[in-house]
Amino acid sequence: MLRLPALLAGTLLLVAGCAGQAAVREFPVVGAPGIGDDYFPGDGNGGYDVQRYDLDIGYDPATDELTGTALVTADITGAPLRGFSLDLVGLDVASVRVDGTEVTTTRDGDELLVDPGQVVVDGRFTVQVEYSGVPEPVRDGPGVSGVVPTDDGVLVVGQPDVAATWFPVNDHPRDAAAVQLSVTVPEDLVAVSNGTLVAEGEPVDGERTWVWRSDEPMAPYLITLAVGDYDLTEREVDGITYRDAVATGLTDRRADNARAALDRQPEVVDFLAGMFGSPYPFTECGGIVTDSSLGFALETQTRPIYARDFFGTASAAELVVVHELAHQWTGDDLRLDRWSDIWLNEGFATYAEWAWTEAEGGETVADQLAAVTDLSADDEFWQQAIGDPGPATDELFSTAVYVRGAATLAALREGIGDDAFDELLSRWTTDRAGQAVTTAEFTELAAEVAGTDLSGFFADWLGAGKPT
Ligand SMILES: [Zn+2]
Repeated sequence: MLRLPALLAGTLLLVAGCAGQAAVREFPVVGAPGIGDDYFPGDGNGGYDVQRYDLDIGYDPATDELTGTALVTADITGAPLRGFSLDLVGLDVASVRVDGTEVTTTRDGDELLVDPGQVVVDGRFTVQVEYSGVPEPVRDGPGVSGVVPTDDGVLVVGQPDVAATWFPVNDHPRDAAAVQLSVTVPEDLVAVSNGTLVAEGEPVDGERTWVWRSDEPMAPYLITLAVGDYDLTEREVDGITYRDAVATGLTDRRADNARAALDRQPEVVDFLAGMFGSPYPFTECGGIVTDSSLGFALETQTRPIYARDFFGTASAAELVVVHELAHQWTGDDLRLDRWSDIWLNEGFATYAEWAWTEAEGGETVADQLAAVTDLSADDEFWQQAIGDPGPATDELFSTAVYVRGAATLAALREGIGDDAFDELLSRWTTDRAGQAVTTAEFTELAAEVAGTDLSGFFADWLGAGKPT
């Protein structure tokens, strides 16, 4: 994510929930209503691992009403389950079927609990949920995210909370899954999502169904949808299909800057593949440029979504594209095992901006690092422990998480040398491709590659206070 600084202030309401429970293999158990993330105890669920979501939804921009059928295919992770939860915020549930059998459920806050004792699932199972309603946007401080109605349609974009506001889900990045999204909208509107465009249906009764598919597993918050008046284009470069959607309502200057930045995506992907020492992780790429002032951009998988705010100047446009495409490696393909390690996402994406700027003949990474280390030890910038920033939106996405995260990597490169640093990035993004990762795993790999103890270095840089 990249937020505009003015919109950083805000707080996030936490959802109460229970911690995970131990599974007993022999006896069917009830899955926990949380996956076990200290920052967001109610997010995700215990007992199963989702393999794919097949979402079939309709959206009516005139009423903002969403009607959906979600088919969730999952594997148990321990004992057979005699009950389990999905995350779902608001919306009315009409029916739930587990392996085809209709079951009763209980809504408890943001949990949709399949009441224990009706079915026992073992191995792979399916849950089909029919539901409808007007999704509640997520409001944190001055910002709005989640399912956001626009003048001509809707945007679905947010971090960390968005997925459960529009479909029943195991809503935590630890559990990534393949996704197919069929979305039916008025025939004159375009519906854009992640991955491959499978079908752009023929108009029927004034509506059209768009089908998008992502075979590579994706964290739920990275699933996006943009419905509205978009100019959708497609091209293939070096085996990657770039599909861009630019809102037709953008003014000339912003539209020009957006198109110029999107045109450079193959160059950016080449540059980042060199920097990370590993190829672009997906076969699809592109961007969704909205005509909405969301105040942020988000690395929605294979197709980041950009607020109009970033396209006022050509340089801002280019940097936000670099940032969100860097996240395709660190954030999307390698994803967070727990939200407290958010610097692993934002530090790398910000470092990529620094490296791109240097490569383009601008300020060097060394200069950017020096500007950071020149800041007084009294500066508020140093007071947050970026390795454990806190769950509020203005903590998770603070300036320090981004800039000190990047500075940590720049200082590491100066400390261990360019060759070891390059090997580290390559091994990190290659060996851990497609996995949920932690800070400890990164620091251990760094020490192994550098052949030296780096515990003091990382304690200094990721903790509170200016590194000595
Ligand atoms: Zn970011």
